[in-house]
Amino acid sequence: MRFSKLRLNGFKSFVDPTDLLIADGLTGVVGPNGCGKSNLLEALRWVMGENRPKAMRGGGMEDVIFAGTSSRPARNFAEVSLQIDNSERLAPSGFNESDNLEILRRITRDVGSAYKTNGKDVRARDVQMLFADASTGAHSPALVRQGQIAELINAKPKARRRILEEAAGISGLYQRRHEAELKLKNTEQNLLRVDDVIEQLA
Ligand code: ATP
Repeated sequence: MRFSKLRLNGFKSFVDPTDLLIADGLTGVVGPNGCGKSNLLEALRWVMGENRPKAMRGGGMEDVIFAGTSSRPARNFAEVSLQIDNSERLAPSGFNESDNLEILRRITRDVGSAYKTNGKDVRARDVQMLFADASTGAHSPALVRQGQIAELINAKPKARRRILEEAAGISGLYQRRHEAELKLKNTEQNLLRVDDVIEQLA
């Protein structure tokens, strides 16, 4: 799986549709202060399912939508799509049918986020799992925010372990275990209720 193109539309400072080609050999993006370099990295994190507004340097998730300037009105939605070259067929199962994979996330004011993979509606969880199983994603240690190195050095062992688990691609398994535990708890509650009903009927 290789990221080949990032397309931004109405995302933060990228009000007009903008393509970033992620060609072989790309090692850096340079530009003056405030030109949008960090916004590009945030767009990548966001399309992979980031759900913490703080990680997007915002107070709420709708803050990623272009907020307007003196010469341009604010937008009502933001969209980011990520093209993935899957010609080596390394995508996790369920996403591995084609040579190209497109993940799209769109947020609309007062509506929230919607995701698509290759044009098909999917849940946020599906996209997050896709990247977690591929050892990447919004929390990947490969994406290093400003100030993150200092945080890492000062992190407690438990937090450091989480980073290693992300890198090993097992964080998706933890999420599935957590969901299975919740289901188990619900089922236990239902069984207790059934016992109560049986007792009342006896
Ligand atoms: P530096 O080199 O200083 O770290 P940078 O190139 O990484 O800067 P970013 O932090 O990516 O720049 O971009 C900041 C710019 O994005 C600011 O001009 C800010 O006003 C603009 N911006 C952020 N959110 C929005 C938004 N929702 N709507 C419009 N512009 C936005």
